[in-house]
Amino acid sequence: THTPAPLDASKLVITLATELKPLPKPESLVFGVEQTDHMLVVHYDPIEGWSAPEIKPYGPLSLDPMSSCFQYCPNVFEGMKAYAGPSGEPRLFRPKDNMARLSRSVERVALPPFDMEQLLILIQRLIKIESRWIPDVPGHSLYIRPTVIGTRAALGVAASDSACIYVIMSPCGPYFRGVAKGISLLGVSESVRAWPGGTGGHKLGLNYAPGFLPQRVAAKQGYDQILWLLGDEDRVTEVGAMNFFMAVKADDGGVDLITPPLDGTILPGITRASTLTLARAHTSGQIVLPGLSGVKLHIHERALAMAEIAALSDAGRILEAFGVGTAVIVAPVGKIGWKGRDLQLPVHTGGLGPIGKGFWDMLTAVQTGRTEFEDWSV
Ligand code: PMP
Repeated sequence: THTPAPLDASKLVITLATELKPLPKPESLVFGVEQTDHMLVVHYDPIEGWSAPEIKPYGPLSLDPMSSCFQYCPNVFEGMKAYAGPSGEPRLFRPKDNMARLSRSVERVALPPFDMEQLLILIQRLIKIESRWIPDVPGHSLYIRPTVIGTRAALGVAASDSACIYVIMSPCGPYFRGVAKGISLLGVSESVRAWPGGTGGHKLGLNYAPGFLPQRVAAKQGYDQILWLLGDEDRVTEVGAMNFFMAVKADDGGVDLITPPLDGTILPGITRASTLTLARAHTSGQIVLPGLSGVKLHIHERALAMAEIAALSDAGRILEAFGVGTAVIVAPVGKIGWKGRDLQLPVHTGGLGPIGKGFWDMLTAVQTGRTEFEDWSV
């Protein structure tokens, strides 16, 4: 009997581009616009299994118009970055966590499973080939977008028994340029991004398109991003495509660091997990976050309702709020619009307050291999 072939990085076939593109100027980069010279592509069909992986010149994919990715959206992806290390070597940040999340996403939309270690080896090969695209400028990196789409060519509503993995890359600079006064958020509850029992805890393409119209409406009202709220109490879930953190003056002179819990309505961000781990390491004395020597952090993963945020804001107790994610790392929040009023948050020179800056400095130091923390930088 015939068994479908597993994904096998040792079967990789590399076809290099005959002409390489000129590198863009780092200062002119807009997130996710430039493409590197090559991409990785692998196909799966239920009889043959996974094809020999190919690294080849970046270009269009040819797909049957009936492919389920165009109809029922069994499409999942990851977002990770390669950073230039101290001697210019490419470095990934916690890539196994991205692979684990991708595996959960694949499973959630019933795509064919595959060996994530093999995919990571293939991504590392692609990064080596594209390493000239990692801008060696502080705050810059090469964004990596591993994608899996269903390619079953039939219109019946059913799980896709065929799939395509592709990995594309894009050099990027700071995600939000000039956020010295912080990003402005509009609290939105008429549209919800995710709900109990829904898919918000997975990185599925279908989670994003329904946010585009509310985002456009918020932008027309002058807000940068949506603060996604949920339930009768307007509980905070996420900010745009970032996880939310708030730092509040605690009664003992320390700082309460609050972020909503992973209850299935929130994407388990790798930056979120890293921020919490660093905060706990700071609290236990294992590390001192840059600039936060002597600052006591109390960590709370708990529900955060807008009424509480408004009351804390009125009492002058909010020190900082920020969004965290791979693209932004840490982005300061300047104001939150909710129920017709604007909650103004404290303004800090340079955008980030000391707590957000402490996490930013530590995260970027580990990402670029200037500081070691556990086995995070690979
Ligand atoms: N929330 C959403 C909805 C996202 O798309 C992302 C980006 N992956 C994040 C949070 C942040 O996750 P991470 O830190 O893993 O980039």
